[in-house]
Amino acid sequence: MKTVNLTINQLLDQIAQFTDPETEGVTRLLYDEHWIEAQKFLLELGQMIGLDSGFDQVGNVILTKFGTANDESAITIGSHIDSVVNAGKYDGIYGVATAIIAIKELLAEYGAPKKTIQILSFCEEEGSRFPFTFTGSKNLINQLPDDIYQLVDKTGESFEEAQAKAIYALKNIFPLVSALPPTAYAEIHIEQGPVLERLNKEIGIVTAIVAQKRFTVTINGKNNHAGTTPMWLRVDPLKQAVKLIHQLEVIALKIGEPFVFTVGEMAISPNASNVIPEQAKFSIDIRHTDEKELLFFEELIYKLAKTQMQELAGLEIKIDKWTDVGTEEMNETYIEALQAICKEKQLSFHLMPSGAGHDTQIVNRIAPTALLFVPSVDGISHSPQEFTTTENLEKGKTVFKQFIYDLAY
Ligand SMILES: [Zn+2]
Repeated sequence: MKTVNLTINQLLDQIAQFTDPETEGVTRLLYDEHWIEAQKFLLELGQMIGLDSGFDQVGNVILTKFGTANDESAITIGSHIDSVVNAGKYDGIYGVATAIIAIKELLAEYGAPKKTIQILSFCEEEGSRFPFTFTGSKNLINQLPDDIYQLVDKTGESFEEAQAKAIYALKNIFPLVSALPPTAYAEIHIEQGPVLERLNKEIGIVTAIVAQKRFTVTINGKNNHAGTTPMWLRVDPLKQAVKLIHQLEVIALKIGEPFVFTVGEMAISPNASNVIPEQAKFSIDIRHTDEKELLFFEELIYKLAKTQMQELAGLEIKIDKWTDVGTEEMNETYIEALQAICKEKQLSFHLMPSGAGHDTQIVNRIAPTALLFVPSVDGISHSPQEFTTTENLEKGKTVFKQFIYDLAY
């Protein structure tokens, strides 16, 4: 077995080696061979530091230190092992590595905890292999739907087949177990945005994970010759799309922070320089901590689209909403406790919403949760350029470790 170096950076570097070597940065998708190697590595590491190592039916790695109080539930900490394609080495895995190192240090300093602690390395959060997200945390709270097993990846392999292979590979060495029900959940993650760095703060204490809606807007017009069709006779879906996006942008700016409105995807057909398009199709992603603001904006999208159709005969706008998740608020007592820890350790902090989704928002449905951020340099994430300084990684661990100590000892 490899020597295990236990500074956070060394551990992150070791885990970053479990990646598709054909890609830039880190690519470790649910149940692929690199994913299997990474989870195996964590199972072995858990054993080496005195934790009970096992995994559950979806491949979540569970590292447990039973408490002296003999409870049948556990303070649960962790994050996800999977990545997007061409990711960095921090997203998700920083939370797993920090949890492991914090527990290793707590055991060395104070011995066994009163309450049982379990570290989860969630099998999947990103949705980058199959069109489904949060497999790991949904399984932990018993809210995994049955219909995911038929999903297929780009190569045509089904979720069921991929999972069977991965579980088989782990089963030879480690026991299949079930996680204990969480009494509390805490996660530390890189910010993935520029706010902490801009404000020059060391720790982000998340107050809520934003509500989010996503839509696909399809605008159908009339395709025609770019030279012979006068302007007044056109039904041009792209120009109508631009008009709609512009109107929404103006109102989005008026709503202000923390509202965000994004059109990140667009397709035009037939997409030729001398043809008035037939169709323009684009995505809308909106997020806010206040669900009422989001609903107001959603209604606005429908209203503006309706007006455009009334104003231009032959124009058709279809709106398909395919994501609609509510705000999840983090536990207030924990938010206060984390602020007190930061003050005591003389670390600067900022209370903030999370615009990105995290496993915390799933576990929050059944247990009180806490979510901490450390600064991302230039706010970059989901990229090989993702970076957080060693100093800030360690400061995050200091706060996280104290928080777990206060909960479990
Ligand atoms: Zn993540």
